[in-house]
Amino acid sequence: MDCIFCKIISGEIPSEKVYENASVYAFSDIHPLTPVHVLVVPKVHIKNIDDISEENGRVMSDLFAAVNEIAAMKGLREKGYRVIINNGKAAGQEVFHLHMHILGGKEDLGGMLA
Ligand code: AMP
Ligand code: ZN
Repeated sequence: MDCIFCKIISGEIPSEKVYENASVYAFSDIHPLTPVHVLVVPKVHIKNIDDISEENGRVMSDLFAAVNEIAAMKGLREKGYRVIINNGKAAGQEVFHLHMHILGGKEDLGGMLA
């Protein structure tokens, strides 16, 4: 499958790894919007939330558990941080492999929508 995030997970495309466990991989966004900008992805290819089901839904709790770990690792808990999933066209989803953006590392992240 021609998916850039699958290639990052397999190591075919290099990335700056932040965290990894059996089901989740996390790496720095190549175009950071905030001092800390990490992408958290399931190792299995899931297009987006539209493809979440009872069978694969456990991946969502795995992703959130990883977000929690990464926030602690990066010292984001005290200030707070934002987690975003762009889902589909209106949200501007560019990469169709489910991912959460962790945005943080500054005092005020601004309004929810630009
Ligand atoms: P989205 O609009 O939610 O699909 O976001 C895709 C994100 O992937 C963007 O923030 C890009 O900067 C990021 N991105 C694309 N290619 C790479 C890459 N090779 N390494 C790291 N981040 C990437
Ligand atoms: Zn993929």
